[in-house]
Amino acid sequence: MIRIAELKLPLAAVQYHPENHTEYHPTDRLVQLAAERLGIAAQAIAGLQVHKRSFDARKSELLAVYIVDITLADAGQEATLLARFAEHAHVNPTPDMSWKPVGLAPAQLEQRPVVVGFGPCGIFAALVLAQMGFKPIVLERGKPVRERTKDTWGLWRKRELTPESNVQFGEGGAGTFSDGKLYSQIKDPRHLGRKVMSEFVAHGAPAEILFAAHPHIGTFKLVKVVEGIRAEIIRLGGEIRFEQRVSDVLIEDESRQLVGLQVLNQATGESYTLATRHAVMALGHSSRDTFAMFYERGVAMEAKPFAVGFRIEHPQSVIDRARWGKDAGHPLLGAADYKLVHHAKNGRAVYSFCMCPGGTVVAATSEPERVVTNGMSQYSRAERNANAGMVCAISPEDYPQDPASFAWAFGGKTYGVEKLAPGERHPLSGIVFQRQLESRAYVLGGSNYSAPGQLVGDFVAGKPSTEFGAVQPSYKPGISLGDLHQALPGYAIEAMREALPAFGKKIRGYDMQDALLTGVETRTSSPVKIGRGADFQSENTRGLYPAGEGASYAGGILSAGVDGIKVGEAVACAILGLEIPS
Ligand code: FAD
Repeated sequence: MIRIAELKLPLAAVQYHPENHTEYHPTDRLVQLAAERLGIAAQAIAGLQVHKRSFDARKSELLAVYIVDITLADAGQEATLLARFAEHAHVNPTPDMSWKPVGLAPAQLEQRPVVVGFGPCGIFAALVLAQMGFKPIVLERGKPVRERTKDTWGLWRKRELTPESNVQFGEGGAGTFSDGKLYSQIKDPRHLGRKVMSEFVAHGAPAEILFAAHPHIGTFKLVKVVEGIRAEIIRLGGEIRFEQRVSDVLIEDESRQLVGLQVLNQATGESYTLATRHAVMALGHSSRDTFAMFYERGVAMEAKPFAVGFRIEHPQSVIDRARWGKDAGHPLLGAADYKLVHHAKNGRAVYSFCMCPGGTVVAATSEPERVVTNGMSQYSRAERNANAGMVCAISPEDYPQDPASFAWAFGGKTYGVEKLAPGERHPLSGIVFQRQLESRAYVLGGSNYSAPGQLVGDFVAGKPSTEFGAVQPSYKPGISLGDLHQALPGYAIEAMREALPAFGKKIRGYDMQDALLTGVETRTSSPVKIGRGADFQSENTRGLYPAGEGASYAGGILSAGVDGIKVGEAVACAILGLEIPS
C-alpha cells in the first residue's frame, strides 16, 4: 500500500450526518486527489482507506486535511511509483502497524508476573502479557469501575471522599473520569499507539478514534472499554484482584532482587505475601504512600519538576469563535480545544494543561481535607464551558526541604530530610509541596470540599471576587469565591497575572472579566521519577518495573498505554531470555 499525506478538501466536501453523528469520507474526491498526486488515472486505484483526518483553520477557508492509504489495481506498479516519489515527503510506503508478540509463555510457567495498578499503563501491560500467555495477576487498590463511579460521585454530590476509591484510584486509573483525549506527542516508531487505539475500538470505542487527529472518547465510553479489556484479560487466563493495595516490597539483601509483594486486602483488612520476581509498578502519580514505601526500601528515585496552578473556565463559544471563525458551531468540528504557553519575565513558564472542551471541572483529591481540581467531559463535549488547567512550571528547588514540613506532611515522619547535604533535594519533597497547596486550598474553600475561586478580571486586578458573572462554575460540590493569591506561591501568581492578558491576545476573550479560576491544580504529573534501565527494571532493584505516569514514563492515557505495552514486553523478554525490541 502507498501512504499519501496532505490531501486537502474544503470542509463542505466532508459528508456529515448529524442524525447519527456519522462521518462518511468523500472517497471519490480523495481517490481523484491521490491519482493526481501520483500522476496516474483514478481507475488505477483499487482501494482507499483514510488513515488520518485533521482540520486546518489557518487559511480563510477551513480545510479538511487527509492522510490516506491506497492499493493499486496493478500491484506490480507499486514499487515503480514509490521509487519515482522516493524524494517526496508526502508519498511513502504504508508502514506495517500491527503489533506482534515478542514471544509466548512456556507451557509450565513457574511464576506469574504481577501488575500493580489497573490504569491505562497497567491495563496494557496486563493485556499484552495475557495475550502472550503469561496469565498476569493484577493488583488494584481501588474498586471495579461501576462501584468506583458511585464513590466518586459521593464527593461531587455529598462532599464524602472515599480515600481508596475516587478520581485517582480504582479500575481504569486516573483518566477514567476524564475527557478521554487520546493523543500524545511521544515518539512511537513501533506504532504501539495504534495497538492501544485498536484495542479500544475492539472493546467499544468509536472507530473514528483511529483516524481523527485529536481523538477523544469521553468518560462514559471509557468506562465500557475498560470493562471490556478487563473481561479479555480474564478470558486469556489473567486475574484481576480489586481492593488489594501493595503495602510493601520484599527485596533480597545482597542482590536487591524483588522476591515478593506484601498486599493488604482492603475489603477484609487481611494482609498476605505474593511471591513474584517480576512486578510492573504502574502506580499513577497519586500513590504517595507507595512512593514513601519505595523510598524506605531504598528503591532509586528522585524529586522531579511538575506544574501547579488553577483550572480556568470560559464559555465554549468564545474558544470556538477564536479557533474556527465563521465555521464555529459546525457539528463536524465539534467543540474547539487550545494549547497556550507564556514565558513570564520572572523566568517561569505558564501553560495550558489537559484542556477539556465542552466539559466540567472536577474535584480530584484522593486524600481527606485536601482540594485538587482537574477536568472531564462526555463524548459529545456539549457542556456550556471550556476548561483547562492553567499551570506554572516548578522544580525541586521550589519544594520544602525542612523537617517540620516533612513531619507535617507525613504524619510525624521526616524520612531523613534533616540529613540532606546543602543543595541536595529530597525525593519526597514534591509530595510535601503538593500536600501543602492542597490543604491550603481546602481551607480557602471553606473546609468542606468546596474549591476556592476567583474571576479572571479580579485576579489580574488583585481584588477578591464576590459574585459570579457570565460564566457559571461547573465544579461540584461548589466554589467559594475570594482571592486566589494565597493559594499558590508568589512567583506562580505573578507569572499567571502576566500570562492571562498575553493569552487574551492569542485567543480573543481569554482574559475576559467573568472567566473563572478554580484552585488548585497540583496533580499535573508525578512529583517523583523512579528511574529504570534499558531492561525497564528499576535502576537498583531487579524485577521491579517502574512504569507509566507515576514513575514519569508517561503523561496521559495514550502514552501510559504505550509504556504499559513496552514494560509488558520487557517482562516477557526477561522471563524468556530474549532481547527487548527497540
Ligand atoms: P493511573 O491511571 O493513575 O493508574 C494507576 C493505578 O494504580 C490506579 O488505579 C491506582 O488505584 C493503582 N494503585 C496505585 N498504587 C497502588 C498500590 N500500592 N497497590 C495497588 N494499586 C495501586 N489523560 C489523557 O491522555 N487525556 C485526558 O483527557 C485526561 N484527562 C484526565 C482527567 C482527570 C480528571 C485525571 C485525573 C487525569 C486525566 N488524564 C488524561 C491523565 C491520565 O489519566 C493519566 O496520565 C493516566 O491515567 C496515567 O496512567 P497510569 O496507568 O500510569 O496511572
